Amino acid sequence: MSLEERCNRILRDMEGSLTARDRVGIQDFVLLDAYTSESAFLDNLRKRFHENLIYTYIGTLLVSVNPYKDLGIYTKKQMDIYMGVNFFELPPHIYALADNVYRTMLTETNNHFILISGESGAGKTEASKKILQFYAVSCPSTKLLDNVRDRLLLSNPVLEAFGNAKTLKNDNSSRFGKYMDIQFDHVGGAVGGHILSYLLEKSRVVHQNHGERNFHIFYQLVEGGEEDMLHWLGLERNCQHYSYLVKVGEGESAKVRSINDKSDWKTVRKALSVIEFSESNIESLFAIIASVLHLGNVKFVADLLGYATLNNSPEIHWLSKLLGIPAQVILVGLTHRKIEARLEEVLSPFTIDHAVYARDALAKAIYGRTFTWLVNKLNESLANKDSSRKTVIGLLDIYGFEVFNVNSFEQFCINYCNEKLQQLFIQLTLKSEQEEYEMEGIEWEPVPYFNNKIICDLVEEKFKGIISVLDEECLRPGEATDMTFLEKLEEKMGGHPHFVTHKLADQKTRKTLERGDFRLLHYAGEVTYCVVGFLDKNNDLLYRNIKEVMRQSKNAIIKHCFPTTEPDSKKRPETVATQFKNSLVGLTEMLMSKEPWYVRCMKPNEGKEPGRFDDVLVRHQVKYLGLMEHLRVRRAGFAYRRRYEIFLQRYKPLCPDTWPSWKGTAAEGVECLIKHLGYKPDEYKMGRTKIFIRHPRTLFATEDAFEVC
Ligand code: ADP
Ligand code: MG
Repeated sequence: MSLEERCNRILRDMEGSLTARDRVGIQDFVLLDAYTSESAFLDNLRKRFHENLIYTYIGTLLVSVNPYKDLGIYTKKQMDIYMGVNFFELPPHIYALADNVYRTMLTETNNHFILISGESGAGKTEASKKILQFYAVSCPSTKLLDNVRDRLLLSNPVLEAFGNAKTLKNDNSSRFGKYMDIQFDHVGGAVGGHILSYLLEKSRVVHQNHGERNFHIFYQLVEGGEEDMLHWLGLERNCQHYSYLVKVGEGESAKVRSINDKSDWKTVRKALSVIEFSESNIESLFAIIASVLHLGNVKFVADLLGYATLNNSPEIHWLSKLLGIPAQVILVGLTHRKIEARLEEVLSPFTIDHAVYARDALAKAIYGRTFTWLVNKLNESLANKDSSRKTVIGLLDIYGFEVFNVNSFEQFCINYCNEKLQQLFIQLTLKSEQEEYEMEGIEWEPVPYFNNKIICDLVEEKFKGIISVLDEECLRPGEATDMTFLEKLEEKMGGHPHFVTHKLADQKTRKTLERGDFRLLHYAGEVTYCVVGFLDKNNDLLYRNIKEVMRQSKNAIIKHCFPTTEPDSKKRPETVATQFKNSLVGLTEMLMSKEPWYVRCMKPNEGKEPGRFDDVLVRHQVKYLGLMEHLRVRRAGFAYRRRYEIFLQRYKPLCPDTWPSWKGTAAEGVECLIKHLGYKPDEYKMGRTKIFIRHPRTLFATEDAFEVC
């Protein structure tokens, strides 16, 4: 195809004939005539959704609406179509974005990340899997590289088995945050990977809300585990038998229509082998999963003095066998606490409530630490053995904004994380984009946007933020309660425009609040949090003597997870919220040094139904995802910008005056080059250090000319 034909095709595809445009809408919001109108934005999205066109661009940002059905658009053939084709030449697709990121990384030899955001169930995890699958197929292949590719792909089902669960929002909801770096060599081969995981929702191990499940792996093992394996683990093939899997009295079935635990078990088992988990590792791993189930079934009874004790418990026998710890040691550990009395340590017996609490704390600790071990193990297997320079593409798939009927500490952390990511988006696009125009001396009409920094500060500010207040209360054991925490918040944050409590509710939002609740006005909407459990979950206390019990374990993974060198519990460990805050700060800093790309996922309806587009729900997401502001900035601005040096270096062969060696400054060289290429004055602007190109079309034509030459 000649250059002219290609340009014409691009034009035709982008703007479309009037009838096609009426039917399928416009594939890039930047081309929307009424680009400032939210209704026009919504109309376009709806039109496309009903035509099964779930993807739409805002420049290079990809908007995706969950179709809740198989559209047949993720085939090998589709991948081939999108490989190496200019971004805007084909209909929008997650593959187009993946391909564009990959090629930019190769030509500019720099690091990138793709931030996938949206609320729970919007399609983030699916999008990240599609991107990974695309790279698996499109990257160069050799025997060695294929091995890395298989491991990268198979790490997913393993992580999902241990870290995902059915919630009310999503049958396969990620209950941990995940950032994955894919490392590429200089010719684009995938040579390794690294996974960072964030705040696994451990409380799910011991308690799930009505209509939700525990982590998939438990059901997979019980439903799919081989007979002799279950026998060895002392498990019955019946989820109803395990109190951590079924809530007594509620009679809920553990089965989920969209999930096949049996076949998922096979996938996970196979994946573990390919990732080279040794048989003994696999044995230790499932001994732990089974132990957690046995632990959940441990029932305490009161002795004559009313203290917790255990009668003839078969569970203790299994725990002893599977963890390799003498039964008596476990028994004492579960029913006593070591306290210091003057100069000696004595064992103080638990009441039943206390024992149940300690048992659940142990189950959570075992599961949480095993999950961390698992991620480390995956990383060992994905590690690139070659130390030569690599570039990376990071995929960030982190839990989406969550609002349930009752929201607890977990939702507080998850929604805070979403505030941080929104802040990152603002910093990297809305803010930095506008600052760049200013810095480069380009005339610019500022676009107003809501900066959610005020909410981030409310949560995380040193000495003043909610996390600080929570940590302070956690320092007063015996005195502080969830309610005193709430009172302190009321005292300190009462005047904050984004914070509401019982006392202040009527004045600020006119909606009443229960006594034990506080409400945050998040950038994405209001969420009411119930303070019950905040202190406990933030402390995440595990008694010292139970740790000592675990240190005696012969199970290799438990041994690793409860090392003898663990910092002494006399020193106060960091609280959960503070650890999470610090890890998010680390993540944001790391991402700031990479080039960002965005996939914004949306939910078309709350019922997980195909074909239904709920205007109110989508409009709300368009609003809080900041899409209108992003569109305004994009529309008013320039799609591409390149430093003069880079632009000249790449395209100078197109102009006899600049090729092979240019003597003047890079800016003059670019000026000379674009004059030769015939750029029209309104197509570009010359900044202080960069050239700004208004439309991708212009750059593509140049790129095509470059390829021809
Ligand atoms: P999130 O990670 O945002 O919470 P998921 O990616 O797990 O959401 O998606 C939830 C469910 O929606 C998936 O299990 C799948 O059934 C459906 N889904 C998501 N994206 C797509 C897609 N592109 N095509 C078809 N179904 C999808
Ligand atoms: Mg997910």
